[in-house]
Amino acid sequence: MKYLPTIGMEIHLHLNTKSKMFCGCANTELAPPNTNICPICTAQPGALPVINRQAVEWTALLGLAVNGAIQPEFRFERKNYFYPDLPKGYQITSANHPPIVGGDIAVGGRKIRINHIHLEEDTGSLKHDSQGLPAAAGRGQGVTLVDLNRSGAPLLELVSEADMTNGWEAKTFCQELQLIVRTLGIADADMEKGQMRCEVNISLRPDQQKEFGTKVEIKNLNSFRVVERSIDYEIERQGQLLDTGEKVTQETRGWDEKKQATVSQRTKESSHDYRYFPEPDLPPLTCDQTHYEKLQAQLPELPIAKRARFETEYGFTAEDARLLTADAPLASFTENTISELQAWLVSLETVEGNPEEIWDKNKKKLIKLLGGWLTSELFKLINEANASMAELKITPENFAEFITLVYQNKVNSTAAQKILRMMFERGSDPSDIMNQEDLAQLDDSAEIAKIITRVIAENPDNVAKYRSGKTNVLQFFVGQVMKETKGKANPEMVQKLLIKTLKH
Ligand SMILES: [Zn+2]
Repeated sequence: MKYLPTIGMEIHLHLNTKSKMFCGCANTELAPPNTNICPICTAQPGALPVINRQAVEWTALLGLAVNGAIQPEFRFERKNYFYPDLPKGYQITSANHPPIVGGDIAVGGRKIRINHIHLEEDTGSLKHDSQGLPAAAGRGQGVTLVDLNRSGAPLLELVSEADMTNGWEAKTFCQELQLIVRTLGIADADMEKGQMRCEVNISLRPDQQKEFGTKVEIKNLNSFRVVERSIDYEIERQGQLLDTGEKVTQETRGWDEKKQATVSQRTKESSHDYRYFPEPDLPPLTCDQTHYEKLQAQLPELPIAKRARFETEYGFTAEDARLLTADAPLASFTENTISELQAWLVSLETVEGNPEEIWDKNKKKLIKLLGGWLTSELFKLINEANASMAELKITPENFAEFITLVYQNKVNSTAAQKILRMMFERGSDPSDIMNQEDLAQLDDSAEIAKIITRVIAENPDNVAKYRSGKTNVLQFFVGQVMKETKGKANPEMVQKLLIKTLKH
C-alpha cells in the first residue's frame, strides 16, 4: 500500500451500576425528564460526591480482562468547561491519573494495545425541538431543554494506542470489547442505544515516512458497520488528497448515512485549557493485594478463551466457535445441548464401556451435526423471526433430542426441517411433533419395495430409458417414490432399492 493508515480509538461505555457515579440516584434514563436527579448530580452548592464502589471495581475488572495494569493509586480531577448539560461547570474524571494503564485486545491474531482506561461521569443531555419535545415545551422553533437524568452516570473511557490500520480491525476491536464487557456483566454496550460511543482518529502517511500525517477525528459513529465504513472511506479520501498533493485538514468529521461518506463537522479550534485540578471532595483510591486477588477470582471465562475451548474441547471449526460464542445465551444453549447429548449417548443400551471413552469416540459426529443445525437452520429461523436467543422457546433438552432423531435417522432432513420449525414456533417436544405430524422416516424396506414396484409398473417408458443407459432418470423415480411416501422415505434406501430393481 502506498500510504500507511494509523488509527486509534476512544470508546465510552455506560456502566450498568444501580446508582450513578457520585450519588444514590438510579442509573437509568428510562424515566420522565429530570426525575432521576438530586442535589449532587444537579450540582447544588454544598453537595458532596461519594464514589460508587461498584463502578470502581468493574473498571478494575475490565482492566484485568484486557491484561491492563491496575494502578496502585488513582484519583479524580475536575475538568473545567462550560456546557448547558454540565451543571457543575466541570466534569469529574480520572483521565490524567487513570485506574488502568496498558493492556491489549487481540484482533485477528494481532494485539491492539490499550493506552489506558479511566472512569468519569457522564453529562446530562440536551433535547432540541426536532426531537419531539413534550407539548408543554412547545414554545416554537429553536427550543432546547436539558434533561439531567444522565448527569453523573458512570462512564468508562478506553483509549487505544494507534495500532489499527483499517476499518475491519477497528470494528472488530469494538465488537470484542463489547463481548468482553457483556461477559463481565458490567455494561450492555448497545451502540444503537448510545451505551457505547466510539470516536476514531485516523491519519495517513507515505509508506517510508516516519512522521505521522495530519490527524482527522470521526465522531458520532452509532454502529459497528459505520465504524468500519467511515474508516475505509476516510482512508480512501485522505489517500486521494495526498495523491493530488493537497493537504489533509485537521478536523472533526461525522458519518452521513445518505451520502455514505464522512462530512466535515468542524475544523480544530485552538486546544482547550481545561484547568485540571484534583477533586478536593474525593480521596485518591488505592488497590491492595487482597482486593486485587478478590477481583482476579471474579473473572469469568473470557471470549477469547471460550472460543479456544469450543474448538479444542468440542471440535467446532474456528468460524463456528466464533459464531456460537458471540452471544452469551447462545454459548450456554450450545453447551447445555452438548451435555444433554453426552448424557443421552452414554445412557444408550447399545453402547457399553467407560462413559468418557464412549463420549470421546462418538462426540465428533454428534457435535458436527449439532453445529450444522445450529448455525444454519436454527440461525435462519431466528433471523427470519427477527428474534433473539433469549426469546428462544426451544430448550437445550428438546434441541438435543431433535439432534438424536436426526443422528439415528429417525427422520430425514426434509422432515427434520419441518420439525425444527414447529419446535421454534411452539416450543414443543420433537418426538411429539414427529408422531403427531406423522413425520417419522419410513425405512421399512418391504414397504418401500412395494411402492417401487408400483412406480416402475406405471412408468414403462422411463424404465426403458434407464435400461438403455440413460441412468439420470433415476432421479425421476426417486422423486416419485418420495412423493408417494409424502417425503418420509429414507432417501438412501430408496435409491439403493431402485437401482437394484431397475437392473432386472
Ligand atoms: Zn443524583
